[in-house]
Amino acid sequence: MLKDASLLRQAALIGSDWIAAGDGAIAVTNPATGDVIGHVPNLGAAETNAAIAAAKAAQTSWAARTAKDRAVILRRWYDMIVENADDLARILTMEQGKPLPEARGEILYGASFVEWFAEEARRVYGDVIPSHGVDKRIVVIKQPVGVVAAITPWNFPNAMITRKAGPALAAGCAMVLKPASQTPFSAIALAVLAERAGLPPGLFSVVTGSARAIGGAMTGSETARKLTFTGSTEVGIELMRQSVPTVKKLALELGGNAPFIVFDDADLDAAVEGAIVSKFRNNGQTCVCANRIYVQAGVYDAFAEKLSAKLATLPVGDGMSEGTVFGPLIDAAAVAKVEEHIADATAQGASVASGGHRHALGGTFFEPTVLTGVTQSMAIAREETFGPVAPLFRFETDDGVIALSNDTEFGLASYFYTRDLARAWKVGEQLEYGMVGINTGLISTAEAPFGGIKSSGLGREGSRYGIEEFVEIKYLCFGGI
Ligand code: ADP
Repeated sequence: MLKDASLLRQAALIGSDWIAAGDGAIAVTNPATGDVIGHVPNLGAAETNAAIAAAKAAQTSWAARTAKDRAVILRRWYDMIVENADDLARILTMEQGKPLPEARGEILYGASFVEWFAEEARRVYGDVIPSHGVDKRIVVIKQPVGVVAAITPWNFPNAMITRKAGPALAAGCAMVLKPASQTPFSAIALAVLAERAGLPPGLFSVVTGSARAIGGAMTGSETARKLTFTGSTEVGIELMRQSVPTVKKLALELGGNAPFIVFDDADLDAAVEGAIVSKFRNNGQTCVCANRIYVQAGVYDAFAEKLSAKLATLPVGDGMSEGTVFGPLIDAAAVAKVEEHIADATAQGASVASGGHRHALGGTFFEPTVLTGVTQSMAIAREETFGPVAPLFRFETDDGVIALSNDTEFGLASYFYTRDLARAWKVGEQLEYGMVGINTGLISTAEAPFGGIKSSGLGREGSRYGIEEFVEIKYLCFGGI
């Protein structure tokens, strides 16, 4: 089924050694069918430490090369990812479930970070600062932080890796990656292509296995100078705690609870489109998915109707099947959380406007759902649902909806629709979020800084700011001049 079957490799990469799945290997299943796709080795602290040591050995000479040298190799990696996009998309859909066109979109989106940071590698500028003494000169240079440990989630098995590895390698760092156990094959395929692109051995290891053992070795390592993590706030806090003794630099992309506000002057059809893109992309399983949809009273009923009507036209199915728009959820626990949120909301007075149940296809398929009459006291208002449920809250005033939107410990993405320019500025400034989509439900791109405030994390990925996460500032003071 793949044009190049060698991209689906049942092995982890430790330095320059491929370690095949053997005894006690982890089975990876297709969430659409339950079939086992293959196995990856169940590795732990020893292999993680070996990968970190190999990374350290490779990193010094990698950092000593010119930025252009590094950029050329990264560019080749980018080209290979794009050339193999169809195969990579198939592997991604098989292990993650998202529809094939969406998976292909992720591969190209993921590749764009490698391209972008290959370009940025040559623009890591320093400073010359007017000095405090006539016989002194002050120069600031930027140097790679060194070995970077990365832990990534299953919802974007490709892009969450390239967003970290692209800037890290461009800056002159080495990376040891632990991909999510549900979706390791996309990560491994990236490593196969990196090797083919000529990335020197040791610079990009992929360690599969126990999250606790691998995460513990990463955070405990003196050699790994930075940890970059995308996942839940709960695990992020634990990793932050574990990183204290080694005073590790951290980049954390954690949970969100995105508000999506529809003002009564909005272009309603555009708002419905935006809500579908934002809420239902990857079947609601992204950290920037709209989690609370606030609709102003005057357009509330019309919006609810249009949204339900549009959703009814979008097919649910196996991501490999032609025409599928919504795939399965990742696992049974994800379905249970969706059901809990619906049950809690309806018990407190919300109504199901459409969907609301497990899908007739069985497994982890779920009907795209719209809830009306949702209020701030319901669990869905406070917790990330991570599933295909659009809860509609009714609001009256701008100040009121801003207060409701900001009433959360999270601060990742937010969205609103209005045609009033003054309102757009004011609301944009007042939303306490790292990212604000104004009249758009899609904000992620390599050119822009992705990241959150409050409990949504630390640091930014993408954009010219993204590479700053992987360098240290060094100040050189020249005296006796
Ligand atoms: P999600 O809800 O997206 O699965 P998690 O935070 O549970 O988010 O998982 C994200 C990544 O973190 C996965 O690769 C997972 O294996 C890893 N992970 C989970 N628990 C730990 C832990 N205690 N230490 C290190 N990594 C962990």
